[in-house]
Amino acid sequence: MSEKAVILRIERISLNDGKGMRTVVFFKGCHLHCAWCSTPESQKLPREVYYKKERCRSCGACILRCPEQALAFTADGKVVRDQKKCRNCFHCVDVCNFRAQQIYGREMTVEEVMKEIRKDEIFYFFSDGGVTLSGGDVFCQTDFAEALLDECIDSGIDTCAELDLYTDPENVKRIIPKLDMVYADIKCMSPTMHKKWTGGSNGKILANLKLADEICKKDAIHVRVPVVEGVNDKADNILATAEFCAGLKNCAELEFLPYHRLGIHAYRQLQRPYPLEDRKPMNRFDVYERMGFLCDREWPFDIRISGMEVYSAESGKINVTEEELKA
Ligand code: SF4
Ligand code: SF4
Repeated sequence: MSEKAVILRIERISLNDGKGMRTVVFFKGCHLHCAWCSTPESQKLPREVYYKKERCRSCGACILRCPEQALAFTADGKVVRDQKKCRNCFHCVDVCNFRAQQIYGREMTVEEVMKEIRKDEIFYFFSDGGVTLSGGDVFCQTDFAEALLDECIDSGIDTCAELDLYTDPENVKRIIPKLDMVYADIKCMSPTMHKKWTGGSNGKILANLKLADEICKKDAIHVRVPVVEGVNDKADNILATAEFCAGLKNCAELEFLPYHRLGIHAYRQLQRPYPLEDRKPMNRFDVYERMGFLCDREWPFDIRISGMEVYSAESGKINVTEEELKA
């Protein structure tokens, strides 16, 4: 029987998730829960219900149908879900004629996902693109990820994955050699801060990154750091991250990503509190102010801020203006 997985969504013709045009397969489920997560709808593995307030006509059908009495009207006629009572039976989705109650996640076989991927094959050919596995965490459904990568490889499709590496080393050994490019997150070098803000240890992640470096294709590793004020934006953490990357043989790029609040809408729809209400979003300039000092040293990899190159392994520091960084 074909392997099945819970897939959050499949995005086509993405330009920011690897070389060329990519089809991005978002896996549902994550072992961590980072406070700045931009896809909270990917965190839980099972399919789950969410509410689109703007579509709701306050008919009350979902409230009457819910067998767990998990739903109620708010004072302004909208619907609130008691997450502790909800069993994700989806009866409220079935009875809502206005599609205000919907489901995150879909069970799919490898063949079904491949069918979606093949629709974009022509774009891969002309742009050097391919498939990127993302999440959530791919390692919550490793068997499926491996089977899907095997199919892509058999079809000559370029493979990439965005990975947290918070998993058993055995899973790393199964997946990494099948990837043409690996995006690996380093969130924070302090074990205490990492545990506090993500719920998991960074010891396992850093050890797996070293392992991935040993078994990956040449220069396949691109490290990404989401920069969040008060979490990992201090000079000592930034320097420690770069020095760790310099110890890898196949790290081609270190990229800093300014913290943004794009996930906040999904938190509202899931009716979960947003963990970083007090944190300001950053732009490239804010990040450059914190990590720009790295560009005055020598590194064996390129350095970018959200796609913009600020240091080249070949030619060193690249001069960028405040206007360019803020654009
Ligand atoms: S069934 Fe749909 S439209 Fe009616 S109250 Fe529930 S969410 Fe709103
Ligand atoms: S998914 Fe089921 S338990 Fe949860 S709110 Fe809807 S009807 Fe109630």
